[in-house]
Amino acid sequence: MNSASQKAPWETISPEQREKLFPILTADQIARVAAYGKKRQASAGEVLVEQGDYNLPFVVVLSGALELVRNTDVGEELIVVYTAGNFLGDVNMLSNRRSLMRARMRDAGEIIELDRRSLQGMVQSDAELGDILMRAFILRRIELIAHGWGDAVVLGSSNSAGTLRIREFLSRNGHPYSYIDLDHDSGVQEVLDRFQVDARDVPVLICRSKLVLRNPTNEQVADCLGFNEGIEQGHLRDVIIVGAGPAGLSSAVYAASEGLSTLVVETTAPGGQAGSSSKIENYLGFPTGISGQELAGRAYIQAQKFGAEMMIARRAIRLTCDRKPYMIEIDDGMRFAARTVVIATGAQYRKLPVENLTRFEGAGIYYGATAIEAQVCGREEVVVIGGGNSAGQAAVFLSGTTGPVHILIRSDALAKTMSRYLIRRIEENPAITLHTNTEITALEGNGQLERVQWRNKQTGKVEDRTIRHVFVMTGANPNTQWLNGCAAQDKQGFLKTGSALTQEELANARWPLSRAPFLFETSRPGVFAVGDVRSGNTKRIASAVGEGSIAISLVHQILHE
Ligand SMILES: Cc1cc2nc3c(=O)[nH]c(=O)nc-3n(C[C@H](O)[C@H](O)[C@H](O)COP(=O)(O)OP(=O)(O)OC[C@H]3O[C@@H](n4cnc5c(N)ncnc54)[C@H](O)[C@@H]3O)c2cc1C
Repeated sequence: MNSASQKAPWETISPEQREKLFPILTADQIARVAAYGKKRQASAGEVLVEQGDYNLPFVVVLSGALELVRNTDVGEELIVVYTAGNFLGDVNMLSNRRSLMRARMRDAGEIIELDRRSLQGMVQSDAELGDILMRAFILRRIELIAHGWGDAVVLGSSNSAGTLRIREFLSRNGHPYSYIDLDHDSGVQEVLDRFQVDARDVPVLICRSKLVLRNPTNEQVADCLGFNEGIEQGHLRDVIIVGAGPAGLSSAVYAASEGLSTLVVETTAPGGQAGSSSKIENYLGFPTGISGQELAGRAYIQAQKFGAEMMIARRAIRLTCDRKPYMIEIDDGMRFAARTVVIATGAQYRKLPVENLTRFEGAGIYYGATAIEAQVCGREEVVVIGGGNSAGQAAVFLSGTTGPVHILIRSDALAKTMSRYLIRRIEENPAITLHTNTEITALEGNGQLERVQWRNKQTGKVEDRTIRHVFVMTGANPNTQWLNGCAAQDKQGFLKTGSALTQEELANARWPLSRAPFLFETSRPGVFAVGDVRSGNTKRIASAVGEGSIAISLVHQILHE
């Protein structure tokens, strides 16, 4: 269908919503934009942005009309028409990803065009314009995601772990896509035939209506959608940040906003562990809570607004630390040089070897026992798994408010792994029962965990209990294997920093400077460790964010050394 005869879906939205999504710039604001770009005439039918283009221009319409359309299998779909004072733009302009739409002049007129660098300069220096643009960009992206107006289609099944992985990967990267559920959607056969795929191939990703990827890895999805396009190896960066959890994202925002050339490398998607939290209630400034994904999504855009480069679905596999500049090698073979490095690779909670564990994470399986989890449990019976101090503290704490507490340990006693004072408290507490030589063997439930089965390894006795809350306190492993001994670690592999480093450790690392390591600096000068990966960190989002920002203030000192 010809787009000129179509009505845009957003013509029907409320005036308040329209004002936020498609604000009209005032004459004064337009004059300020003009200072960063070029004015020119555009003729009717001229395509300013093609679907799939990179390096997208930011455009303000001064006269005439600009239409945004999307190519679909059945022709062009009109999304919105911009008129005088409106501007064309989306977060893809800042992240340098492909355009999901075609922008074409419907009626000839005058426009102002800015390239990506000028747009970045403008949003960073003009606070009022920055606010208007960033709000519109974020709201537009939310609408695209809600409507599935992207360049990716996922064909999958709700019973497939691969489908869940790809959907999570796209969502956590803020990429709009549409989803066809082979178990429930009608007309599926037609799609399968058209792309010559079989139901057994699921999950399938149809990328830009062209490429069909069968059960692709996250790396393949990222490559197909062009997430990392334009990131160059050649030049020396001021700082490379490895990991985009709260600590890495915080470092990225501070580094880029303070003018440092900044590259972030992230294995999966921004957010880290916090990204998997459905509601964070203890982060300052969010009295009603915020989902980890929303918090991470905002920080991700914020870092890009200031010009940080983000490399997604790529793992750092080596740090060359015996000479400067430091080199970070990525799993696809690329190598990046950096004056300083911030390691923010976090930790991974040890998981139980139970098949469907991830289904109940946050819905009965918890990795922390704070007042929030205790509140969720109410007076119900709970299980704590683990024999370390964190498990002991959790059991004692929970027993104060929940129903009976069961501690499950694989060994035959707590003595070797838990402090004496905690063991005594557990022994004296009638609400706590210790089950030695015991392992969880099954979890059941529909959405929320409902039943738990455990087995005594010595007697073989199996117990099946109606318990809806299990606390896994079996410790966390730091993501430091890739460092290959480049920086001193504690016994568990967490990175030691600042005054925690002993003279012996510094001597072993051949610390070359007369000054002692700065706060959060590892045994390598200019290599920092922040957040959960750091020995002694408190494993909280707020501390990760704080450490990320402090490390950058010290990076400045090192760059001036
Ligand atoms: C389910 C859950 C709920 C939580 N809820 C709360 C809460 O409500 N409040 C609170 O304060 N804390 C909470 N926490 C703890 C909090 O999330 C962590 O303390 C915080 O995320 C640590 O941030 P980080 O950036 O140091 O590490 P992480 O969040 O672990 O992020 C590290 C990042 O590094 C990436 N990475 C790892 N290795 C590499 C590599 N080699 N190359 C590239 N990238 C790599 C990972 O993919 C990850 O994205 C929760 C944790 C979980 C698991």
